[in-house]
Amino acid sequence: MNAINYNEIYKEFQLGKVVIAGPCAVESQEQVNRLAQKLSKLGIKFFRAGAFKPRTSPRTFQGMGTDGLKLIKKAATDNGLFVVSEIMDSIELENCYDMIDIIQVGSRSMAAYGFLKRVGKATAKDGKPVLLKRGFNATLQELIYASEYIMNEGNQNILLCLRGIRTFEQIDSEMRFTPDLASILELKDKTGLPVIFDPSHSSGDSKYVEQLAKAALFLGANGLLVEVHDEPEKALSDGKQAILPDVLNEIIKFSHNI
Ligand code: PEP
Ligand code: MN
Repeated sequence: MNAINYNEIYKEFQLGKVVIAGPCAVESQEQVNRLAQKLSKLGIKFFRAGAFKPRTSPRTFQGMGTDGLKLIKKAATDNGLFVVSEIMDSIELENCYDMIDIIQVGSRSMAAYGFLKRVGKATAKDGKPVLLKRGFNATLQELIYASEYIMNEGNQNILLCLRGIRTFEQIDSEMRFTPDLASILELKDKTGLPVIFDPSHSSGDSKYVEQLAKAALFLGANGLLVEVHDEPEKALSDGKQAILPDVLNEIIKFSHNI
């Protein structure tokens, strides 16, 4: 057992403007080491990277699984960072629990109520924060109910994450989803829970990420979840929406000054 106080970590998010950053997916030990080092130098404390990837097509890169998570954990530990990573099922939850500091429940899992209950039960013992992403087809009330499934099992440390929704915009918009920025205001109001905004999946395009991130902070988001890569053209997933560390630095500076 490690001695991390997860209630203290959760408090940082309640205070606000926490930036979680890292690549969409772990690709190799070298890649996560390199990125963890660059991001920690920018002052990042929470390192995101996926090992279990919920890809729309089963024929694309699915992530490196448990072995990949070990690489993420090593890179984070070596650089003094906390791990934020997605878990998609109960077996992964059991096997990988100790390697993750903030359990991410993805947009596609938001309505998996049995899984939400298991996540709630597993995290109740140490209060490990759960970052619950809004289903891209879910209403705000459905997101709130999903958070209650977790909280009812005994863990109140929930981070709600807005990550874009599918609307009529997608018929001809170049963005991957419609950034649900205004919901930051309403969700904070209705729940009192920390609200995190994900400008990367919201827009799907690195050219929009900096401005969306700043807008979210301006609206009072408690934090951001941002995909960063230093070689986005070589990324195995979501390279198009990954910003460079230099751009992240602009967002971090803005977060300190707002
Ligand atoms: C992610 O954060 O890497 C991810 C897959 O996000 P979402 O569940 O919002 O699609
Ligand atoms: Mn991604």
